[in-house]
Amino acid sequence: MKFYNLKENDEQVSFAQAVKQGLGKNQGLFFPESIVALDNIDELLAMPLVERSVNVLAPFVEGDLSKSELADIVTNAFNFPALIQPINEQRSVLELFHGPTLAFKDFGARFMAQCLQHFSNDNKITILTATSGDTGAAVAHAFYGLDNIRVVILYPKGKISLLQEKMFTTLGDNIETIAIDGSFDDCQALVKQSFDDKALAQAIGLNSANSINISRLLAQVCYYFEAVAQLKRQNRQLEDIVFAVPSGNFGNLTAGLFAKAMGLPIKRFVAATNVNDTVPRYLATGEWAPKETIATISNAMDVSNPNNWPRVEHMIKSGIVDDCVTGVSIDEEQTQSTIIQLSKLGYISEPHAAVAYKALGQCDDDEFGVFLGTAHPAKFKDVVESTLGQPIALPKELADCAGEPILSSDMSADFEQLKAYLLQ
Ligand SMILES: *Cc1c(COP(=O)(O)O)cnc(C)c1O
Repeated sequence: MKFYNLKENDEQVSFAQAVKQGLGKNQGLFFPESIVALDNIDELLAMPLVERSVNVLAPFVEGDLSKSELADIVTNAFNFPALIQPINEQRSVLELFHGPTLAFKDFGARFMAQCLQHFSNDNKITILTATSGDTGAAVAHAFYGLDNIRVVILYPKGKISLLQEKMFTTLGDNIETIAIDGSFDDCQALVKQSFDDKALAQAIGLNSANSINISRLLAQVCYYFEAVAQLKRQNRQLEDIVFAVPSGNFGNLTAGLFAKAMGLPIKRFVAATNVNDTVPRYLATGEWAPKETIATISNAMDVSNPNNWPRVEHMIKSGIVDDCVTGVSIDEEQTQSTIIQLSKLGYISEPHAAVAYKALGQCDDDEFGVFLGTAHPAKFKDVVESTLGQPIALPKELADCAGEPILSSDMSADFEQLKAYLLQ
């Protein structure tokens, strides 16, 4: 299938090219030329995750991957489950945090890594990315041990939690991590300078692995199907499902809209944000007015200019999906009281999932609400423990890396130094 640039519609590329390129000309996002409605939804829902995902993704990668190549990629990428857990009669959570870095980003990052390696044709690729926490871990683990791919991750020294740091700096092998003496913005500026240096980019096969890559979105479509498949097995009414999606850059919501456009029975979506509420305000007023980003306890959603929004907007405006998105913004106090409320229902959650659960509040009685659990509560141990006043256990993945030494090197926020490092 071809993918076209939403800003420069003449630019049309294959799936392989879209994966390798990331962004199109003029920073435009790639979008599939068609989203094929599937006519065998019931049959698909009866399949296991990997087999179903191959069928869901096949139309998008046709021409670039055979079914058996796609099956290998999906098998390697989705080697952990997505789980529906009931909260009460009207609510369930879709837990997406059972991957190696305990966050939903594992789905997209692992699928992208496998695709990129497949399309690399044995050319050397350098993934350069800046992280303030979660993305770095998902990217590092997704690319760990893959041939011909070198990963360099920059992060602000001393500005992320020790546990977060340990999740991506202790791997070694093809994963190199650099603690930059500066802020996250300094790290991002260094990444941008590297991409702007065309000779450098060419010499080392520079690639970013960020969340606008179409392969990451497509991977995420698969767990919406998995959620509905599990609800069906539990004999839930499938016509009335509402998904609440804790949103930052809106990749997760975009994937949900793809699933709906493909015919998955989903009634509507609630786009749940923290106080960084550009989208809920836009949906209410029609005015796009980002404000200064505010730091919150659901920090993976501290985004005021979400980079996937043009895809959502395109799908709604062009009628690919009906008008099925409402926005709800949840403040810090509500987030914390919701963590407490959920724990009284017997469920330990973390700030992002709590924002989504709270945002479901306005569901009708005949609707069934599913909120996405995007991270394991132990990843937000400090805030969860202080909110609940009780300790929470570290899962094995975190406990294992907590004891390992950090392998990072230190560097000042200096492009020439980084360039020399990258070229060595
Ligand atoms: C990245 C992230 C989000 C936001 O997802 P988007 O696709 O950017 O909207 C939500 N929760 C957690 C824990 C995340 O890491």
